[in-house]
Order: sequence, then C-alpha cells, then structure tokens
Amino acid sequence: MDSPVRPKKELCELHFHLGQSVEPHILWSIAHEQGIKLPSKDYWEFYDLVTLNKKEVAWEDYHKLFHLTELIQSSPVSMERTVYEVIGGAYRNSNITLLEPSFNPMFRNRSGERDLDQIILAALRGMEKALAEFPQVRAGLMLLLDRRLPLEKNAIIVSKAIKYCDRGVVGIDIAGPFGDGFRYEDYSKLYTEARAAGLKTTVHTGEDGTVEEMDHVLDVLPLDRLNHGFRAYTDKKVMAKVVKKNLTMCLCPTSNLSVKFIRDIEHLKEVIQTLWKNGVKFCINTDNPSMLRTNLKKELALMTDNDILTDKQVDQTVQWAFEASFVPTAPDKNLYL
Ligand SMILES: [Zn+2]
Repeated sequence: MDSPVRPKKELCELHFHLGQSVEPHILWSIAHEQGIKLPSKDYWEFYDLVTLNKKEVAWEDYHKLFHLTELIQSSPVSMERTVYEVIGGAYRNSNITLLEPSFNPMFRNRSGERDLDQIILAALRGMEKALAEFPQVRAGLMLLLDRRLPLEKNAIIVSKAIKYCDRGVVGIDIAGPFGDGFRYEDYSKLYTEARAAGLKTTVHTGEDGTVEEMDHVLDVLPLDRLNHGFRAYTDKKVMAKVVKKNLTMCLCPTSNLSVKFIRDIEHLKEVIQTLWKNGVKFCINTDNPSMLRTNLKKELALMTDNDILTDKQVDQTVQWAFEASFVPTAPDKNLYL
C-alpha cells in the first residue's frame, strides 16, 4: 500500500534490475496487453512464478526466474510501461528521488526479432513520462551487458549506450552467471571507450565469484562504482584498493541472503561492519525488489532492526548513494525534461 503521508527521508537506489522490479499485477497486465501466452491463466500461480516465495534458491535457478519477466518486457510498449511504473512506484512507495534502473536490451528483443533501438527508446520514453509526473525525481538508465553473451553482442550494447548517452542512458554494467570463455580483461577496451564517450561504469563482482576474482576486476576494468563486491570483506588489501579507487559498493542484502552467498543475519553483520570499519563506502539496494518481495525501506530497516548499522550510519550510506549516482546533477531541475 502507498504511504498516506509524505515521507521525510529522500532515498536513492543505484542497483536494481527492471526485470524483477515490476509488481506482479502490473506484469500480469502488461502480459495480457501484449497477448503473451502465459504458463498459467491463474493470477496466483503466475505470482508464484515471478516471485521468490521460498526463502532460498540455488544460484542456477535464480536466473531462470528472470526469463518470464524478460519475455513479458520484450516489446517497446511493455518497456515504456515498465520503466514508467517502476519510477513512479519507487517514488510513491519508498520516496526514492534518484534512481538508476538497469536492463539488458538484448534480452528484450526476442532473440533479434525486435529492434534494439526501439526497445531502448521506449524505455527512455517511459522514464521521461514518469519524470514529467514526478518532477522531484531524477533518473538515468543503466544498460547491462551479460557474461553469457559473446563479446560482439556486448559490444553492440555498449555502442547503443553511447548512442543514447545524451538521452538518459548514464552507464554500463556487466551481470549474469559466468558464460564459457568470459574474461573481464576482454572488456577493458569497451569500458574505456564507454567512459571516453561520457558514460559511467560499474560491474557485478564479488558476488558469486571470489575475492580474487574481484581483485582482478579492479585491476583490469576502469570503474566508477561496484555492484555487490561484498566478498572484499575477507581481504584488507582488496578493501584498501576499493577505498583508494574511491568506489562505492552497491550492496543488496536480501538478494545475497536468498542465494546463501551471505549465510544469515550474523554473517551479514560481519560483512557490513567489516566494510564500514575499513572505510569502504557502500549503499544499500534491492537488486530484484518485486521478485524478492522487498523494497529499499525494508532493506534499510533490516540494517537497523538487526543492529547492523545505526540510524546515523544508514543516513551516511544514503548520502554515499546520492554522491555515487551517475545521473548528472542540476539544482532543482531534471536534466531530461
Ligand atoms: Zn544485480
């Protein structure tokens, strides 16, 4: 339910995926609008398919959950509504006034059947429509590359991000399970080109991989931020490297707990407090809010309710999120309107 009063605290969210951020009833509506044949004609069965109703899931099965939502979002009309609904929903539900939704356009073109430009333009239209309705909000889109895609396909995504850099695409990211032959060093050039064109860069690392993998990523990719990266907590040298490079980690507690990369609340406490003590800047995010039945307010409450962070520390992480955003700042006005 939407809050009936204006919340006091403005929040910023930098790490969440559009595929798993649309409320099930809206996805259901989009699917019907698109004439998509769903695996079930029963709304509650559909709800179970697109949300994680068990507390835990295997890492391999986690990504299978994304397939149906990506299929439903695979048209310009559905992308426009998706982005529009997500931005408005984030403002109404959690008072998020700065956000960077991410998506992989290549997973929304029905294996090449749809035009990538039309998909990206529709997402930008959805963003503009939402920002016109909620002028308090600023936003920028992140385009995701995927570790399962070949370099040539990921290079196309980077070229599209560059093409729409002045229209509201603010950065690139790499996500997804490791595919055959994926090597971070192969992406150094693409990341350098993206930055030279005015985009910002982040990457999913230190999540399913090891701290050694993360250390390597920090050496080979030019980065402005990190997604996850929590595995650094076991290695002081890696944490020092993150601090030296002035990278903010976009952590996702419930997401990591759901696949057991973080075992339990005690483990989460150890991770977060170690990062804090070592001067690592981080912010709290949802990753896949509708799928995980969470939101940013709940994620922040998880920190304070379990004495992981104090209210003051949480405020500091929110401040770090605002500072680490890739959306260009313009006082009292949205740059894309
Ligand atoms: Zn993520």
